[in-house]
Amino acid sequence: MAATATEPLRTGVLGVPVSVCPDVFDAALALHQRGGGQIVTLNAEMTMAAKADPALGGAIAAAALVIPDGAGVVWALGRQGYRVRRSPGIELARDLLAHAAAQGWKVALVGASPAVMDQLTQRLRRELPGLQLVLTAHGYQPPEAWPGLEQQLLAARPDLVLVALGVPRQETWIQQFPGRRCGLWMGVGGSFDVWAGVKKRAPAWMGALQIEWLYRLLQEPARWRRMLSLPAFAWAVLRQG
Ligand code: UDP
Repeated sequence: MAATATEPLRTGVLGVPVSVCPDVFDAALALHQRGGGQIVTLNAEMTMAAKADPALGGAIAAAALVIPDGAGVVWALGRQGYRVRRSPGIELARDLLAHAAAQGWKVALVGASPAVMDQLTQRLRRELPGLQLVLTAHGYQPPEAWPGLEQQLLAARPDLVLVALGVPRQETWIQQFPGRRCGLWMGVGGSFDVWAGVKKRAPAWMGALQIEWLYRLLQEPARWRRMLSLPAFAWAVLRQG
């Protein structure tokens, strides 16, 4: 069966579900039209984390759309005969923001440090003047602030909610919302830091050589332990034959 924009094909990498579709932006718009749902951007590190963490695995399994973000996942899909393009979550999220500004969608942003959130909202107001931001909240709220924030989010009925709380928290936090939520809800990791100008994305040539992970490691050496899952991922995929 061929995947279409409205009906992505659901397959899996190491037992973690992932959607194959010709264009992730079209698939996201179709999902919005159907009433919305959770979008997960899957990379190798997350795939390994999901195998070890049932809460993350459950959130990914329940998500409406899981896009292959990461050279490792694209490579693993290729070994199964699926030729897919890598779809970086940060690019889909940016395209959705531009679409939101053009279409009058209501947008909520949750996560990152207070300084990053401040800078980001100022920048977005400048760069996307039509953008309707119905709620912005940084990701370091005290525990007692979250229930009120969650109520506000549901009441605002946003069309698009971008959540930068890091993996796995952003995925599990989105998943616990009741079914009456609408719109697209997407975990975006460090995207707010990049858009605010605090972190940089790897240069395109590193992306082409599939060594973005090396850039990330040099920029954030503290990630080395998390990154040990990358060779473990490659080994597990190769062992599957
Ligand atoms: N973050 C947050 N609250 C927390 C922990 C993290 O808002 O309690 C933010 C952090 O400031 C950063 C993002 O979550 O903006 C995580 O970025 P990272 O690149 O580490 O994402 P990951 O690789 O986990 O997807």
